Amino acid sequence: MLQAKIDTHTHTLASVHAYSTVMENVKVAKEKGLTGLVVTDHAPGLGTGETFPTSYFGNMRKAIPKVVNGIRVFKGIETSITDYNGNIDMPTYTLNKLDIVIASCHEKVLKPATNKEHDQIWEAVAKNPWIDIIGHCGNDNYAFSHEKIIKLFKQYHKIVEINSSSFPYRKNARKNCRDIALLCKKYGVRVTVSSDAHFASNIGNFTEALKMLEEIDFPQELIVNRDLETFSSAFPRIEK
Ligand SMILES: [Zn+2]
Ligand SMILES: [Zn+2]
Repeated sequence: MLQAKIDTHTHTLASVHAYSTVMENVKVAKEKGLTGLVVTDHAPGLGTGETFPTSYFGNMRKAIPKVVNGIRVFKGIETSITDYNGNIDMPTYTLNKLDIVIASCHEKVLKPATNKEHDQIWEAVAKNPWIDIIGHCGNDNYAFSHEKIIKLFKQYHKIVEINSSSFPYRKNARKNCRDIALLCKKYGVRVTVSSDAHFASNIGNFTEALKMLEEIDFPQELIVNRDLETFSSAFPRIEK
């Protein structure tokens, strides 16, 4: 049975279209037997700008303890990719104050284009040392050359997210994620499984992602959020 103990992609009220607090998310994480979670609210590009400015992210380490009610709380962000050159919507000055940076394509920020442009995005992201995790890349609207790009992610030590909540609602996500996971297995690319929870009750819900990974006999050792120790040493900027 594959397992994951840290939810690596979670939203709070600060994402504006999410509905729980850090404390509520922590409470559910504890109830479900997790050992950690990463707070990854949306960077300003997705409409949170004026309500939750850059200082929201810059102050997280100071304001939120490392461990809350026995749950290790990592301070992260889900940035949006803003152009086909792979730029993101948060300055490095702020990224430097965070443990983990996810970069995702969101339709409201970047219009889906052709396979060629999407490859160009991921090529740039692979080479960007500030980005740790590739967010929900199984979205069919941003189709890309899976094998070519997964090999690049391996080369630049990127971690690929298998986003459990994508499966029911992002077009062809199940098929794409399976294909991507098979390539991660083939090339030894590390993955995280995440809930992408926008409400506390969904924290730790990795069911769909783990089920698919089990179907393809995915190795547990490539899941970086399998335990706290492995996870904490997998990212260069995590606060010690
Ligand atoms: Zn997203
Ligand atoms: Zn998200």
